[in-house]
Amino acid sequence: MEPLFYAFPSQDGGTSMSELNSKRRLLVLDDENDVATTICMMAAMTGYETDHTDDADTFLGKVTSWAPTHLAIDLQLAHRDGIEVIHQLAKMNCTAALIIISGLGGRILDSSARAASENGLRLIGTLSKPFFRADLVALLTCDTSETLPDEKPALGASFPPISEAKLAEALQAEVFVAHFQPKISCASGELVGFECLARWNQQGGDMIPPDVFIALAERTGQIHELTRQIYHYALSNLPGQVVEAELKFALNLSPTNLNDETFPPWLLSQCQGRGIAPSQIILEVTETASMNNPLALLENLTQFRIRGFQLSIDDFGVGYSSLVQLARLPFSELKIDQMFVKTLVDSEESRKIVTAVVGLGNSLGLTVVAEGVEDAWTLDFLRDIGCDTAQGFFIAEPKDKLAATAWKGFSWKTTQ
Ligand code: C2E
Ligand code: CA
Ligand code: CA
Repeated sequence: MEPLFYAFPSQDGGTSMSELNSKRRLLVLDDENDVATTICMMAAMTGYETDHTDDADTFLGKVTSWAPTHLAIDLQLAHRDGIEVIHQLAKMNCTAALIIISGLGGRILDSSARAASENGLRLIGTLSKPFFRADLVALLTCDTSETLPDEKPALGASFPPISEAKLAEALQAEVFVAHFQPKISCASGELVGFECLARWNQQGGDMIPPDVFIALAERTGQIHELTRQIYHYALSNLPGQVVEAELKFALNLSPTNLNDETFPPWLLSQCQGRGIAPSQIILEVTETASMNNPLALLENLTQFRIRGFQLSIDDFGVGYSSLVQLARLPFSELKIDQMFVKTLVDSEESRKIVTAVVGLGNSLGLTVVAEGVEDAWTLDFLRDIGCDTAQGFFIAEPKDKLAATAWKGFSWKTTQ
């Protein structure tokens, strides 16, 4: 089939989508007028109101005045580039669904997509010019409620604002709990352990995402109390398999916790009091800019290892994690960031990066974990390249203690 972006679309499927999309408005920014016109025409066939412009300022003005539900942006413009526009949209807290279009090739499209997501925009997909009509229609007709960013709340998302005082109140009331997400062996599919994830469920059912309240606690210094509460809950409510089968149990640790020298002995006593061996505990640390004292970091992490705890470098491949830190710090596990894992199916670059990182981890004698596994193909791929452990919604979502204990394990049909 010829890729097309000038072809007049057929009439099929237009009518029913028209009802579904009755409130959808698409605004296109592209300086190739015929491309913009064609995109608008296709969108109109699926029930969109449409508008387009070749000027970034006009575009940004219309984002405010016309409030489109969907945006399509070409990266290469005559006077501005798409990244500048992405920055502006992020500053405006824009929550419209975003499609990025480019003729510049996969790598540039991939990195622009990443920039959009990491700026908190609600990216629903990319299109490489020339594209098939079906690909555009698929994006325009997808359910955008499924495309909210996973690791950050959508800008303007509806969780109530939280303050230091509100967090203090919640700490006082000891409302924090943990959920447990199974981790399996890529080779055998067997359960190898769980990751503990903090949960703050408010009265009325609202859930505040952990990365929001953890970040607040880190800023206010409440993280020390919060971490102890979550760890206390988690260690007192371990899924049954952890105890019976002596499985591994991963807990997240903020870099700020590393400055507290009373924490390693406290954690050790918590484990000893419950018959949990420190070697069963994996502490997941995300390297951040706050780790600005390399010697203190080396010493603090080593203190955990001396006490027998395992250490994992979380979100490897993004942020501040680096090969230097991996080599000089005493990590026993490397956890590949889910950004690479989730894009394995679609991105050649992600496949190359993950293959290289798994090889690196294996050669350094580290256990390699991939999180964010959302489909069978990804799990098969990870197994084939020698990744040790997998975690993700395809295997199981985080569960409360009872559901985690009742989890019967996992079997999957290989896609190959
Ligand atoms: P993280 O440590 O990278 O944890 C993995 C996050 O990815 C979890 O989000 C998990 O629910 C989610 N996840 C797992 N599999 C999939 C998947 O297949 N697809 C998608 N889209 N998401 C998946 P959660 O529970 O919202 O936690 C977010 C972050 O909050 C964590 O990221 C971690 O950085 C932080 N966090 C959670 N609990 C704690 C804690 O007790 N202490 C500290 N310091 N940080 C915590
Ligand atoms: Ca983690
Ligand atoms: Ca992670």
